[in-house]
Amino acid sequence: MRFADITGLEDVKTNLINSVKNNHLAHAQLFFGPEGSGSLAMALAFATYLNCTNRQAAPGEMEDACGKCPSCQKMAKYIHPDMHYVFPVSATKNISGKDVISNSYLPDWRTFLQKNPYANLSQWMQHYGGEDKQANISKEESRHILRNLSLKAFEGNYKIMLIWLPEYMHVSAANGILKILEEPPAKTVFLLVSSDVEKLLTTILSRTQIFKIRAFTDEEVARYLTTRMELPPEKAEQLARLSNGSLAAAINGTEEVKNDSHGIYSQWMRFCYDRNFSQLIQMADDFHQFSKDAQKALLLYGLNILRETLVYPYTSEENVKLRGDERLFVERFSKVMQWNKVQLISEKLNEALYHLERNASPKIMFLDLSLQIAGIIRS
Ligand SMILES: [Zn+2]
Repeated sequence: MRFADITGLEDVKTNLINSVKNNHLAHAQLFFGPEGSGSLAMALAFATYLNCTNRQAAPGEMEDACGKCPSCQKMAKYIHPDMHYVFPVSATKNISGKDVISNSYLPDWRTFLQKNPYANLSQWMQHYGGEDKQANISKEESRHILRNLSLKAFEGNYKIMLIWLPEYMHVSAANGILKILEEPPAKTVFLLVSSDVEKLLTTILSRTQIFKIRAFTDEEVARYLTTRMELPPEKAEQLARLSNGSLAAAINGTEEVKNDSHGIYSQWMRFCYDRNFSQLIQMADDFHQFSKDAQKALLLYGLNILRETLVYPYTSEENVKLRGDERLFVERFSKVMQWNKVQLISEKLNEALYHLERNASPKIMFLDLSLQIAGIIRS
């Protein structure tokens, strides 16, 4: 994570960079922002910046970590030996008792950060599979914090202790780290990331320098969704409005939109069936804006559904794999479509895939395909 990866929040970035340049780096900092804001991402970007051995600024832009030096590469994979992570955890099927500390969950934590560094606690718990019990930061964990920080830095520069959601610290754990938080060893930095400072002990709060991270604006969320998640602008703006500045919610929503092959495909077939040409033109426009992978995925999904349609009348109840809307769609479709028409449409989808691979214009290809399907259905 680099500063450049975070949309907006230039004022916070500038303050952080200046604190290093002017030798005013506070040894305990608290990034405080609402759920789905850039608070955790900002702490990660700052940690990367601190240990980068080749900080640089592109012309006209602010300074940032280089993203290429050995330190940056390890930070990007969340495996830097001087970067320690502490976060709320709870017992799972495989982890219990004294092992319920952050270190035991690091592989999950890495994939979690890679997937969505804007997510909240319940998303984290879902990710590592601890949905039933309350997660917290235990007293045992505070002992590990002290032990980790008593070690020499492996690679020189800063030793960093990132504590995500310190408001979930057990009181005895919080008390256990007060002293080291106030007077950490040389070149040691605490980065705390909280979404609820009201729940933080004042003794912790008073020992940190606070950076307030505002929620993202709708424009910032939409920009992230179009540039990073390849969502068409219209969909991105719609999702941004619905997610109230929470990138966590917006990223989740994007996955749903992307996974909604069935919704898109069934709508498309309905317009073909109705010969609704104005809507088909609009849809070809929409498909044109999808990434190539998404265009292919849609066609492959269609082929899959057509295959199911062919075998559906001959499949016994217990062997039907489809559920819910998909099943209903196939059931109806198999009733109104003769076998040879389903075959013909499959051929057209295969041809479309072939042309897509060879860089045909998606817009023209999808419109042509829609007209052909409409023709076959009503022939
Ligand atoms: Zn670097």
